[in-house]
Amino acid sequence: MTDHTHADTLRTPIVAVLGHVDHGKTSLLDTIRGSAVSEGEAGAITQHIGATDIPLDTISGMAGELIDPSDFDLPGLLFIDTPGHHSFSTLRARGGALADIAVLVVDVNDGFQPQTEEAIDILRRTGTPFVVAANKVDTTPGWNPQDGEPIQKSMDAQSERAKSMLDENLYEIIGQLSDAGFSADLYWRVQDFQKNIGVVPLSALTAEGVPDLLTVLMGLSQRFMKEEMAIDVTGPGEGTVLEVKDERGFGATVDTVVYDGVIRNGDTVVVGGQNEPIVTEIRALLRPRPLAEIRTEKQFEKVGEIGAAAGVKIAAPDLDDAMAGAPVRVVRDRTVDQVVEEVKAELAEIEVETSEN
Ligand code: GDP
Repeated sequence: MTDHTHADTLRTPIVAVLGHVDHGKTSLLDTIRGSAVSEGEAGAITQHIGATDIPLDTISGMAGELIDPSDFDLPGLLFIDTPGHHSFSTLRARGGALADIAVLVVDVNDGFQPQTEEAIDILRRTGTPFVVAANKVDTTPGWNPQDGEPIQKSMDAQSERAKSMLDENLYEIIGQLSDAGFSADLYWRVQDFQKNIGVVPLSALTAEGVPDLLTVLMGLSQRFMKEEMAIDVTGPGEGTVLEVKDERGFGATVDTVVYDGVIRNGDTVVVGGQNEPIVTEIRALLRPRPLAEIRTEKQFEKVGEIGAAAGVKIAAPDLDDAMAGAPVRVVRDRTVDQVVEEVKAELAEIEVETSEN
C-alpha cells in the first residue's frame, strides 16, 4: 500500500433514492437490501455507514435473465441509505452531486406531487442522470402479484383490465415528466438513455420490477459513467459528510461517503466546518460490524483504510463543528494550506447554491 503509482480502478457508482413523502423510498431501499440478502450468498451485500453496497454478482443473481454479468466491469451499486431530496440537495462532491445516479420514486396512483417537482428541479440543476421508479403497481385493482419477478413477466400475468389501468397511470407519469421538460418512456422502449428517461414500473412491497430497476441502473452506469468511475485507488481520499454524530468513546464523528481515493487511519484530513475548515488527524475509521457479531461486540469495527466508493465513520479530534454536506479531504502529499483552500472554495460554492433557493 505504499505504492504511489497511479492505479486506476473502476469504483462503484453512488445511487441516491428520492421522491415525495410516502411514495415508498424507504420501502424500496429495504426491499433492495432484503431481496439481495435472500439471494443467499454470503457477502450478498455489505453494510456501510450510511450506505449499502450491492455487488454485481448479487445484482445479476436477482436480475436473472435480464442481465449478462459479462457485459459489466463496474463492481456493483452503492445505495445511500438516507433517502429524501433534502439530504440529496446538500450532498455535493466537487460542485456536482455526490450521487452519480438517482432513482426518483413516484407512487403510480398519486403521480407527481410537490416534492416530486422539487426533486426533479434538483436533479435538473445538478445534471444527475435518473430513472423513475413507478412504485406500488401492486395496488392496481385486481392485481395478481408475482413476487420478485421482472415486470414484463408480471404484466403477462395480469388481466387486461388491470393492465390497462396500470398503463393509464404510467402514461400519466410519462406526461408529467414531459411537462417537466423530460422526454420519458417505459424503460424497455427507451433507445437512448441520454435523451430519454426510463420509467420502471415496480412494487417495493412485492419486489416485482425490482430486478428491472437494478438492471437499468447497472446498464446506465456502465454505458455513461464508466470514465467518471475510473479512480486512482491510492490517491488522497475525498468524501462528503452525511451526518455529524456523537459516539460514546469517540466524541463527535463524521459519517462520510468516500467517492475518490483512499482514506487511511492516521491521515491528516480537512473537513468543512460551521466557521472554518477543520484540520485534524484520523484516530479511527469505523465500519458497522457484521450483523452476527453485533450482540456480543461493540457496534463498530476499526479498519486501517477505506477506498472509494464507501461509507465510513471517521473519529478524530475537533469534529464538533463539522457540517453535513461538507467536504472531507485527505492532505497526504500536498500542503495543509492548499487543501484548506480547496475545501473553502467548495464550501463557498455550496453556499451560493443554497442561497439561490
Ligand atoms: P417514504 O416516505 O417515501 O420513505 O415511503 P415509505 O417507504 O415509508 O412508504 C410509505 C407507505 O407506503 C408505507 O406504508 C409502505 O408500506 C407503503 N408502500 C411502499 N411501497 C409500497 C408498494 O410498492 N406497495 C404497497 N402496497 N405499499 C407500499
